[in-house]
Amino acid sequence: MSLMRKVLLAGSTSPWLREQATRRAFVRKSVSRFMPGEKIDDALRAASALKPERITTILTRLGENLTKLDEAEEVTEHYLDVLDRVQRAGLDAQISVKPTQLGLDLDAAVCQRNLDRIIEKAERMRNTPVWIDMESSPYVDPTLKLFRASRGKYRSVGIALQAYLYRTVKDLEDLIPLGPSVRIVKGAYLEPTTVAYPHKPDVDENYYKLCTRLLAEDAQKNGSLLHIATHDVRLADRLARFIDDRRVPSSAHEFAMLYGIGISQQRRLASSGRRVRVLISYGEYWFPWYMRRLAERPANVTFVLKNMFAR
Ligand SMILES: Cc1cc2nc3c(=O)[nH]c(=O)nc-3n(C[C@H](O)[C@H](O)[C@H](O)COP(=O)(O)OP(=O)(O)OC[C@H]3O[C@@H](n4cnc5c(N)ncnc54)[C@H](O)[C@@H]3O)c2cc1C
Repeated sequence: MSLMRKVLLAGSTSPWLREQATRRAFVRKSVSRFMPGEKIDDALRAASALKPERITTILTRLGENLTKLDEAEEVTEHYLDVLDRVQRAGLDAQISVKPTQLGLDLDAAVCQRNLDRIIEKAERMRNTPVWIDMESSPYVDPTLKLFRASRGKYRSVGIALQAYLYRTVKDLEDLIPLGPSVRIVKGAYLEPTTVAYPHKPDVDENYYKLCTRLLAEDAQKNGSLLHIATHDVRLADRLARFIDDRRVPSSAHEFAMLYGIGISQQRRLASSGRRVRVLISYGEYWFPWYMRRLAERPANVTFVLKNMFAR
């Protein structure tokens, strides 16, 4: 991992930097490349604009590591309302949640209840799956536990798994009998080499291995769904070739990307008939998320940082 990436990921957890950054007009402006706005209406407008391009969406309100259960309740109510708004807008827009935004740090049972309330309504409204993001490595076990408990009650829940973690091969294997919906991502957090591959080529190869495992015949028979969540064109094309060679049905996989990133790739895949879903983030608590986006492409960073510290 490059030094710049390490510094940015470490900075993502700094309250002081957050305070500085969120006050700067230039930083706010540069955030808008990845986020259509702070309000749900901004996200819904962006989702509507993608619809004519045959691009569907996932909506997520930014926020993590909440410190009060009241806030988790408010987030849950918010997502329940979003499901109504999505239906009224006639959109194919799923929901993705972070466990620590639903109260995982405070009370796992409350978090589970909040998650289940969202899934239950989404299932009733036929807007599924509800996706569970994967946060940093200490959260993997509790997040898998949440997923399994919800999956025991509802069919329509999906989970993100991170290719940079050594453990993910086994985690995926353990989930396959459930016929899971899985979003494979490379991983966005600062992790020690004791738990995560430090070198990108190893992460990329593991990514391919995990996706092809979920596309294998036995996993498909169980009804698995794969979200190929990457902007890595080479990797996505390699997986598209695998899918075509094996005639994997289009109902079994989607390509997923983040709003504002790899736009030409999003359009290229969608116009060639692939299913493409764009994850749109919105909300006021964007700083740690934005720092993770910068860390993914340190080339963007010098100018932003210079302005961040300018008076
Ligand atoms: C739909 C979706 C959901 C996600 N959910 C999670 C999650 O739950 N947990 C988690 O840990 N991570 C999540 N991520 C983030 C993921 O882990 C990676 O950090 C991120 O996708 C960058 O990796 P990459 O696969 O695009 O490949 P990379 O090899 O990092 O990037 C490939 C190319 O994509 C472009 N690119 C990538 N990122 C950026 C950027 N920020 N700005 C500009 N260009 C860029 C660059 O051209 C780069 O060369 C999610 C990503 C997506 C797309």
